[in-house]
Amino acid sequence: MPACWRPREVAMGMRVMMGDITRLAVDAIVNAANTSLLGGGGVDGAIHRAAGPDLVEECRSLNGCKIGQAKITKGYRLPARHVIHTVGPVWQGGEKSEPEMLASCYRKSLELAVANDCRTIAFPAVSTGIYRYPKDHAARIAVSTVADFLDQDPTLIDVTFVCFDEETAALHRAAITALRQD
Ligand code: ADP
Repeated sequence: MPACWRPREVAMGMRVMMGDITRLAVDAIVNAANTSLLGGGGVDGAIHRAAGPDLVEECRSLNGCKIGQAKITKGYRLPARHVIHTVGPVWQGGEKSEPEMLASCYRKSLELAVANDCRTIAFPAVSTGIYRYPKDHAARIAVSTVADFLDQDPTLIDVTFVCFDEETAALHRAAITALRQD
């Protein structure tokens, strides 16, 4: 296979869609949680509302989660089998290890998915809401981290970036296109 084909292969397991992540019947959806894991605003609130009160009960037993780490629960009333809760960094200008922390969220979530036999996973745009991470930087980190992971571990067959607004979807599509042209 010519070397120039490889980037296209790398990006193959990724797709971008607009929508509400709580509606997806995948093996795992990722929650942009906070360190308490006890619920919050944005996508976190939506996931807890849709999953029902058993989710927060299980989360209580997890003793929180550090920034850049991830923990897994069942999905309860969600169509998704599992929720992977990850805690993104709050944007503070970019000099406080925010890029490394954000990449770690994606990597740790994917590792947990594989460890729990999940083959399809959906991510929201972690940290780009209440935590104010610039959407373009975040999209590039999300796409490149997932691509690197898929390159090394072919177990996961399908990664969906679920975007809540058209700008975020366009930025993820552009990041995937840029990766293919590398
Ligand atoms: P954070 O605190 O990590 O910034 P937010 O929940 O505030 O998390 O935002 C993360 C991203 O999730 C934002 O792009 C926001 O628009 C998006 N979002 C909010 N609700 C949903 C949902 N139901 N499905 C998918 N994405 C969502």
